Amino acid sequence: MLSVSQAEMLILERVQPFDPTHDSEWVSLMEGRDRVLAQPITSPLDFPHWDNSAMDGYAVRYADVAQATPESPITLTVVETIPAGAAPQHTVTAGAAARIFTGSVMPPGADTIVMQENTQRQGDRVLIFTAPAAPCAFVRKRGSFYQAGAVLLEAGIQLHAAEIAVLAAAQCAQVAVFRRPRVAILSTGDELVGIEQRLGPGQIVDSNQYALAAALAATGAVPLPLGVVPDQPNVLKRQIEQAIATADVVLSSGGVSVGEYDYVNEILAALGAEILIRAVAIKPGKPLTVAHWGLHPGAVQAAAALLYFGLPGNPVSALVTFWRFVQPALRKLMGFKESQWRSPVVTATTASTLRADDCRETYIWGQLHLSQGEYRFIPAGGGHSSGNLINLAGSNGLAILLPSRGTIDAGQSVSVMQISPPFLQNMDAIV
Ligand code: AMP
Ligand code: MG
Repeated sequence: MLSVSQAEMLILERVQPFDPTHDSEWVSLMEGRDRVLAQPITSPLDFPHWDNSAMDGYAVRYADVAQATPESPITLTVVETIPAGAAPQHTVTAGAAARIFTGSVMPPGADTIVMQENTQRQGDRVLIFTAPAAPCAFVRKRGSFYQAGAVLLEAGIQLHAAEIAVLAAAQCAQVAVFRRPRVAILSTGDELVGIEQRLGPGQIVDSNQYALAAALAATGAVPLPLGVVPDQPNVLKRQIEQAIATADVVLSSGGVSVGEYDYVNEILAALGAEILIRAVAIKPGKPLTVAHWGLHPGAVQAAAALLYFGLPGNPVSALVTFWRFVQPALRKLMGFKESQWRSPVVTATTASTLRADDCRETYIWGQLHLSQGEYRFIPAGGGHSSGNLINLAGSNGLAILLPSRGTIDAGQSVSVMQISPPFLQNMDAIV
């Protein structure tokens, strides 16, 4: 059986990132939040665009005020007032100053700002009580933040508030971002019913459809929920065919173990897929199928390829395998930089003993906290059964027990993969 890292490598090797030309779209900057830049951005503007003041105060010549002290202030003549957004009208010559505000353009001749707090205005004159620390004090020099023509933002970065601010300042009203991958979700199983149906004997709600749709949306993909498919090979085959014709990636859950009603693998093989993975040494999540078509069967573009993840049906297994395998694949597909494909892993101290009763790589869900600068992991209470979706709620981390480490005692270190939201809580701020 493949190890977790072997399986991850096989999957990531097959993912061809979206093409910046074919798989991108222009969106208005207001719609750009959380999207991934498809092209690097450069600007023809320097930042700042011109020398300007970082303070409310007076623009002066440093040489004029270098000797100023509270006991013997220097008196300068104020030749003009420069509000923010206005062009200076005068040159600051020896003995002169210009009243200036934060963001106002530096007048020619001046090289330094004296902050207002170190001055006293008297009619058309100003007394300077303190020498500035150095020439150019409180002057933001043109081009000191960014020089025109350099790369302002690289392709592959995700747009959050800070990046959106940069793009707005660079007048990028429209931005080229990678399109969102369309991901079909199929739930297989005769026992599954929709959320609004009355539960008959032995029936359960198809919760995976909702869980996977939420996880996909959080990853930045477009979920295509295709509903429940009964354990009937013909119906399942039709549904899978339809899904692979419309989506970039297909997720199904259930029907991939070795039970009599587990048909997914044989259907995929019949549909010409290359089956990359049939099982992975991971707990929960062993019965994981991953298949690949070198060419997307319903592809419009010749370059399109398609991945199929047959996730295990157990609700916890479905989500753990999503976080561990599907999410990095999607992030690679969506054009993220390699450092961003995987969820962050931190070293934490476990609050109670963690046991792996198996030689598979074991993932134990729970809460990751930050306390006095150290990560602390508290495993979820109750049973860690892959069917127990109830105590998965509220978890923000998965402790990883490698096959070689059967037990990790309370107080020892453990690697924890972050699965946010919810965000990491700082316990010091709470208690
Ligand atoms: P399977 O992989 O089909 O053998 O399913 C394993 C377990 O997961 C069974 O107990 C199923 O009832 C349960 N299960 C399968 N699919 C879903 C689903 N979509 N939502 C919730 N539970 C499921
Ligand atoms: Mg089933």
